[in-house]
Amino acid sequence: MKNVVLLGSTGSIGTSTLKVAGDLPDRIRLVGLAAGNNVDLLIEQARRHEPAVVSIGDPAKCAAISDVLGTRTRVYSGAEGLLKLATLPEADIVLIAIVGTAGLQPALAAIRAGKDIAIASKEILVMAGETVMSEARKHGVRVLAVDSEHSAIFQCLDGKPSSSVRRLILTASGGPFRTTPKSEFGSITVERALKHPSWVMGRKITIDSATLFNKGLEMIEARWLFDVEMDRVAVTVHPQSVVHSMVEFVDGSMLAQMSTPDMCLPIQYALTYPDRVSSQRVQTDLARLGNLTFEDPDPDRFPALTLARRAGDVGGTLPAVLNAANEVAVDGFIAGKVSFTGIWELVASVMDHHEIVQQPSLDQILQADAWARAESARFIRE
Ligand code: NDP
Repeated sequence: MKNVVLLGSTGSIGTSTLKVAGDLPDRIRLVGLAAGNNVDLLIEQARRHEPAVVSIGDPAKCAAISDVLGTRTRVYSGAEGLLKLATLPEADIVLIAIVGTAGLQPALAAIRAGKDIAIASKEILVMAGETVMSEARKHGVRVLAVDSEHSAIFQCLDGKPSSSVRRLILTASGGPFRTTPKSEFGSITVERALKHPSWVMGRKITIDSATLFNKGLEMIEARWLFDVEMDRVAVTVHPQSVVHSMVEFVDGSMLAQMSTPDMCLPIQYALTYPDRVSSQRVQTDLARLGNLTFEDPDPDRFPALTLARRAGDVGGTLPAVLNAANEVAVDGFIAGKVSFTGIWELVASVMDHHEIVQQPSLDQILQADAWARAESARFIRE
């Protein structure tokens, strides 16, 4: 039995995690749930799973939740609430599925409290991968991947050291504009960008999948999780999203992890690791799938990969700047203030203007994040 704290329980990954917990009541006990704004869903989840503690973004909403849940459930709020949950004495593992950067401090707090962490929020490793991984080594805890690509690589590596890897090959669906000519990119609307061909996800990551910034962030995430340099992280476009990623070993052998796309699988593997636990949820019929195809990404139409490779290569505060600028650009796109191609232009411009700090402290990373947000807002205003 694992006692699990789930940060971001009301989101796409969060609700899939609740399904997995519902499937495996003898293996997974949810002891803490945290949400941002969705009070009604948090209450419904707490009634069903009876965690000892919940947390909500806005402190003003605590009383209403306490009124409904009664004294059996402690209710916290805000950033402090996330830290309380991340360090809950009874928790074995903390799954972080909060969109954006709010999960970084709770992730570090959980590690320092000796908890294993399962990371869906890739922003955490993009911003502060070096710090997170070195703290995890220092405290002897595991950092488990929830992202399907990184779970796939983790499963293929199966404990092999990074010296046995020639390349990690991340697969990308290519998003809804994989075959769209560049000349039409100027007229891409938010509605079209939100229609992902193979995955149902939160809005931010769906837009990131359309620009391929999602894959760019994942390249940097893989670099830290698996301790390889950026030039050993490759991307191949695989529209069927059945091969979730691959490892090419130094002897030329390649291992791939495959299944029909369903986030419940990597979530379950992270929460039950190192065991494999029976579940009927994911079924893959290869004959019905027919063909699996692979193609090179087009850096001319999708500059996000080149920008991310540069950020990962240079390191220091540059990945945090890329991440923050992209977050502001995506918000701007959704609000109709930035065009689809403007997302790349904004990120490239903010990266170009950044004075990089190498081997930054956490404070310097957070300062770079704040600087990039302000600079991005200025770019949008001008
Ligand atoms: P969603 O937007 O669906 O969910 C985000 C969750 O975070 C919600 O529960 C939201 O609460 C909560 N939240 C936001 N801000 C705060 C805060 N300050 N305090 C507490 N909770 C907060 O996102 P996804 O589930 O799609 O993605 C979550 C993370 O997982 C992202 O980093 C994404 O890149 C990553 N990921 C997602 C995948 C997917 O398939 N969706 C796949 C791989 C990675 P509320 O809704 O109540 O406001």
